[in-house]
Amino acid sequence: MSNDSAKQKSVMVESEDLCKFYGDFAAVQNVTFSVPAGQVCAFLGPNGAGKSTTMKMLTGFLSPSQGTAKIGGYDLHSQRMQAAELLGYLPENGPLYTEMTPQSFLRYVGQTRMMSRSELSERMSYVCDQCDLGEVWGKAIGKLSRGYRQRVGMAQALLHDPKVLILDEPTSGLDPNQVHGLRELIVELGKTKTVLLSTHILQEVHAVCSRVILVNEGRLVFDGSTSELGTEGGLMEQKFRELTMATTS
Ligand code: ADP
Repeated sequence: MSNDSAKQKSVMVESEDLCKFYGDFAAVQNVTFSVPAGQVCAFLGPNGAGKSTTMKMLTGFLSPSQGTAKIGGYDLHSQRMQAAELLGYLPENGPLYTEMTPQSFLRYVGQTRMMSRSELSERMSYVCDQCDLGEVWGKAIGKLSRGYRQRVGMAQALLHDPKVLILDEPTSGLDPNQVHGLRELIVELGKTKTVLLSTHILQEVHAVCSRVILVNEGRLVFDGSTSELGTEGGLMEQKFRELTMATTS
């Protein structure tokens, strides 16, 4: 009993029976899973599988048609502020404040999060360093490359030192060097934080995640360790194809 409640407490991301309907189209159907503290978990699936929609519900940006989403035990709907404090989110499209610089954007984000001046200045210099933003610190976000904009998005997600990171396609649009750097950063962050990251890239799962949740056509089709999905690229690809084609017939 006490074991159960200890286990319950350590769940940091919880999706219970989540559903999202657009008209009568079901983008997400009855998705249930939980991610314990300290795990780096891949949210894998082909394009259109429902990954972004699920992540938007798990971060409070979209209301579920059915089911509940919790971060650190706090319901995104009824305890939104407490959940938001624990949460850093990298949305699928980077920062939209294109006329701001990374510096002014991050200061603005920190102020809206009610960070103190000293904490904000310390964290701004940390994320500038970690996300390698020094070169573009004073340039307009709208003029930055996709890779840099993605890193500004990461810096924003990390700014308040959240316990949970939800990252929607974090390496999308990056060149191979940037992909490598960002994966290393995620592995490092995963030592102290709970991370759920979406991807459709199988190598990404291998490189950074110990657990995989696979969705297809809005439904969860696999939940297990990365090694269960296949440790070699070829095997994993075959399993991915089997699982994502099984529900289409
Ligand atoms: P993924 O992130 O796995 O690529 P999405 O969650 O973006 O998938 O989309 C899941 C499905 O829901 C897709 O078929 C997509 O076209 C549809 N969809 C997403 N957003 C909307 C919307 N606002 N209105 C209607 N359909 C949507």
